[in-house]
Amino acid sequence: MSDMSWLDWPFFEERHRTLAREVDEWCGTALAGVDHHDADAACRKLVKAMGEAGWLRYAVAGGPGGGWGGALPEVDSRSVCILRETFARHEGLADFAFAMQGLGSGAISLMGSDALRERYLPRVARGQAIAAFALSEPEAGSDVAALACEARQDGGHYVLDGVKTWISNGGIADFYCVFARTGEAPGSRGISAFVVDADTPGFSVSERIDLIAPHPLGTLSFENCRIPATQRLGEPGQGFKLAMMTLDIFRASVAAAALGFAKRALDEGLARARSRRMFGQTLADLQLTQAALGDMATAIDASALLTYRAAWLRDVRKQRTTREAAMAKMTATESAQSVIDRALQMFGGAGVVSGMPVEKLYREIRALRIYEGATEVQKLIIARELLKA
Ligand SMILES: Cc1cc2nc3c(=O)[nH]c(=O)nc-3n(C[C@H](O)[C@H](O)[C@H](O)COP(=O)(O)OP(=O)(O)OC[C@H]3O[C@@H](n4cnc5c(N)ncnc54)[C@H](O)[C@@H]3O)c2cc1C
Repeated sequence: MSDMSWLDWPFFEERHRTLAREVDEWCGTALAGVDHHDADAACRKLVKAMGEAGWLRYAVAGGPGGGWGGALPEVDSRSVCILRETFARHEGLADFAFAMQGLGSGAISLMGSDALRERYLPRVARGQAIAAFALSEPEAGSDVAALACEARQDGGHYVLDGVKTWISNGGIADFYCVFARTGEAPGSRGISAFVVDADTPGFSVSERIDLIAPHPLGTLSFENCRIPATQRLGEPGQGFKLAMMTLDIFRASVAAAALGFAKRALDEGLARARSRRMFGQTLADLQLTQAALGDMATAIDASALLTYRAAWLRDVRKQRTTREAAMAKMTATESAQSVIDRALQMFGGAGVVSGMPVEKLYREIRALRIYEGATEVQKLIIARELLKA
């Protein structure tokens, strides 16, 4: 087991310490031998297993009477971060599957009608429905307010036309939270959000995309795709705000996933440094190795402090944490890349052999510096918040 002393930090309550120990124990047995050759099948299996074990209940809100299926009335950021950190430390695909159930259904938790919440959220929490978040487009990634996918109102229906790309779970999701232009105002104020079931006529997954660290990912096409107006989330024109609110909840958890990858890399690096003999001693006896380990451990703690500060502020102080979550996401993802790179270096040639844990981590971490706002975007968010004050 990795060093768990961080759980004594004042950000946590006893329930968080219990959760961390229980999920770590579960991961130790349930995640052994995930088959990476078929990412779709692996993710379906993981969602089912995590649903049955009860972990997915932390990815959705429970609602006032608990009827939406979540473990707690609202999504608890510290629980989500602890779960993502632990899943990532054991198995990247488990982290991905968990995170997408939350991100893919977050907009329903936040602004869905009671009927939509009751229809979708309990199945997400039980692992019986796979969720996806469809915001990005070929010409609207970082500049997401430029999105062009259109939803035209037609009586009691909306008709969607356009393309979404880079959509995680694209191809295996049962439903998609889709952000489309409804035209109430120019730019970001003319966007609304909808839940689209995967079997809706006019909807298709037009392309699957292969990644360096395989995850289900695809491009979606909407061609005259007709959905009832009751599938809309929130008021017309509120879609952009809803997308940003959803990302705000989960952005700190991307930092937590990076933290899990970095901690695993440090554990792997330490084991290698202690066991590898060279120049009549171990790699760990060499001062350059010790300097690397010192840097790695400090970067990890700094990332963890930023991550759990953001989560704590959101949970306990009920604050919007735009600046804090951006700082955590930027720092944790950038420093995890460097921690993993240094761990891989300690393995020499063995570090670049396919299937080695450090090699997998090296591929796994890269996308986290890009999605849910690239590092450059996080810097701009932080500066904007500072200048606003
Ligand atoms: C593995 C993966 C999973 C994803 N999952 C989802 C998903 O589930 N749903 C979804 O909607 N989207 C998803 N995305 C899309 C992701 O959010 C976008 O890739 C991201 O927003 C960047 O958009 P882009 O790829 O179009 O790059 P671009 O917008 O073209 O940006 C390219 C680069 O430009 C730089 N840049 C950006 N802004 C600035 C600036 N202001 N100044 C200087 N440089 C800048 C950054 O380095 C950035 O990486 C996913 C992406 C990946 C890689």
